[in-house]
This record gives sequence, structure tokens and C-alpha cells, in this order.
Amino acid sequence: MEKEFTTTSPEETITRGKEFAQELHPGDVVCLHGDLGAGKTHFVKGMAEAFGIARDEIQSPTFTLINELQGNMSLYHFDCYRMESPREALEIGAEEYFYDDGVCVIEWPERILSLIPPEALWVSIEAPDKKTRKFVIGKKGL
Ligand code: ADP
Ligand code: MG
Repeated sequence: MEKEFTTTSPEETITRGKEFAQELHPGDVVCLHGDLGAGKTHFVKGMAEAFGIARDEIQSPTFTLINELQGNMSLYHFDCYRMESPREALEIGAEEYFYDDGVCVIEWPERILSLIPPEALWVSIEAPDKKTRKFVIGKKGL
């Protein structure tokens, strides 16, 4: 699923997130790699829509480390920004989510890199300017 594309609005990023998620399968783990404001959460809003979950249920910033959303497939939205170590993620049962048959999507995967399953899909996002976001899907970002 190696792919590159550019978006020029938040709405376009949501649309791309939705299209991306339509190709996913139960049990997939998706890592979103990009700086603060890259558009990770907007991409997740689109993913949610693909599963029949309202975009408004996807929050940014998230203060809960894992947000469980139930649509026609479970979506487990991780925001690891505030995690100090992989141990913290283990303590809240992160690995059980990774090996569950829902889809996991992880913001700030670099915080818990040692726990990320090797078969995870990577989406890397860069922001060359205020409105443009460049996405590379399928390449391990780290
Ligand atoms: P992250 O979760 O990576 O921190 P968010 O999705 O919360 O990022 O926020 C992205 C920010 O960038 C928002 O303020 C949004 O309005 C802005 N933005 C500008 N252009 C885009 C774009 N093409 N795609 C997504 N967000 C964009
Ligand atoms: Mg975010």
C-alpha cells in the first residue's frame, strides 16, 4: 500500500483518511508520524467516518491515552504524546488492543516504538507550508 499524496485543506485530509481506512482490515495497526499540527487527528477523523463513527468523536488534543470508538468496526485511537515510556502504554493494556480485531491508530508512535507490531502500517505527514500536507503511506517513518 505504498502511496504518496498531498492535501491542501483539513477537509481534504479527512477525505483521504476516510479513503485510506476503507482499505483496512480487522486487526490492522496504523502509526501516524508527524509533528504537532501535521494533521494526524484530522486524518483519524476521516478514518472514523469510514467506520460509521462521527468525526466529532475524535478529539484533539486527547487527554485520554486510548479512546475506544465503536462503529461497524472498533477503532482504538491512541495519542501517546504525553507518554513517558512504553511501560506506561503496557500498563494500560496497549498490547491487547494491538492484537485485537479492531483497528488501532496511533499518534506519536515514536513514544512507544518498542511496542509497535512490526507489521504496522506507517503514515508519515509533513507540513511544507500552512495549508499543504504531504502524506507518505506504507513506509516505516522511523
Ligand atoms: P495533529 O493531530 O497532527 O497535531 P491536527 O489534525 O490536530 O494535527 O491539526 C492540524 C492543523 O493543521 C489544524 O489546525 C488544521 O486546521 C491545520 N491544517 C491546515 N492545512 C491542513 C491540511 N491540509 N490537512 C490537515 N490539517 C491542516
Ligand atoms: Mg493530534
